[in-house]
Amino acid sequence: MKEFVKKRLSLTITLVLFVFGVLMITFLVAGGITILLQYMDIISSSSQTAQNKSQNPGFHVLPLIYFLGFCILLGTAFTAFLSKKALNPIRKVIDAIHKVASGDFNVKVDIKGIGELEELSQSFNKMTQELSSIETLRSDFVNNFSHEFKTPIVSLRGFAKLLKENNLSEEDRQEYLDIIIKESERLADLSTSVLTLSKYENLGIITDKATFRMDEQIRRTIVLMEPKWSAKVLTVNVKLDNVIYIGNEDLTQQIWYNLLDNAIKFSEQGGLINISLTKINSSILFVIQDNGPGMDELTKAHIFDKFYQGDTSHSKAGSGLGLSIVKRIVELCDGDVHVQSEIENGSTFSVTLK
Ligand code: ADP
Repeated sequence: MKEFVKKRLSLTITLVLFVFGVLMITFLVAGGITILLQYMDIISSSSQTAQNKSQNPGFHVLPLIYFLGFCILLGTAFTAFLSKKALNPIRKVIDAIHKVASGDFNVKVDIKGIGELEELSQSFNKMTQELSSIETLRSDFVNNFSHEFKTPIVSLRGFAKLLKENNLSEEDRQEYLDIIIKESERLADLSTSVLTLSKYENLGIITDKATFRMDEQIRRTIVLMEPKWSAKVLTVNVKLDNVIYIGNEDLTQQIWYNLLDNAIKFSEQGGLINISLTKINSSILFVIQDNGPGMDELTKAHIFDKFYQGDTSHSKAGSGLGLSIVKRIVELCDGDVHVQSEIENGSTFSVTLK
């Protein structure tokens, strides 16, 4: 109850007290002045003699009109003076809104005391905080995007220029051509990933739903990637429950593909990957565990950020978009994705789908 009054009624109570205060001050001052004038015999009191009243019947009405007029003037003056102070918090919010409109998202409003206005200032500060983090994300995205595209392009141009030289050995020529092919493939993968992510980010709901066997889909993905994991002599243990799922097959396929691709990529030669799919009531739990190098706390905190790559040397092929795509798809499926990992102790990704 106290909380309700503080949050919902304090503005009303403050306004009522304000008006009451102005009226009281006005009447006290006007009353005081009237008494003073009567005392000084400048205006007459109502206790006029019967003779006076009969001589001038409207005489005692006039002071009342003066009094009321004076009250109105005085009240208006007090209101003009005090409302400036009372409206100060609103002025602060208006100034802050102007700043936000001109692009300054770091502005904060601090209003204390009046419940509703305090709530307004808190919501306002939350809004500017959100806007500023969206702005940071946007500019980070543009920076990362430009950086990721520029690097392979610069390298392509450099090696293409070298190829133009006449005194190149056949061995060097082949090496430069291989680099050009690799870099152009990287560029093509990057463009595909950016387009895929942007497509999924703009997708509000999942369309083209169908009923399919999820365990079969995961098995197919593992077989599809066999060349990659057998090249590293990895052991892949699979334990999949029979799961019938209604969803978009292309989307879920990308979850398994990206997570398995990472597990293979980050596993050492001869490593082990465990994959399981379990039905728990109405949810499905997919777990993929590797015994690769694991991640530190900083890497774990950022792996779902766009373009983030734990290994800044970019020694492993990748764009830093795979897990952003996984996260977006899982969000679209109303699910969750988690990671458990420790340096030198491998990584475990768990995906829950409803
Ligand atoms: P990419 O693999 O293209 O670099 P991702 O978005 O798929 O981009 O992954 C982001 C980062 O998360 C990787 O650069 C890596 O640091 C970390 N990561 C992802 N999966 C694993 C894994 N299984 N083991 C260790 N680190 C991983």
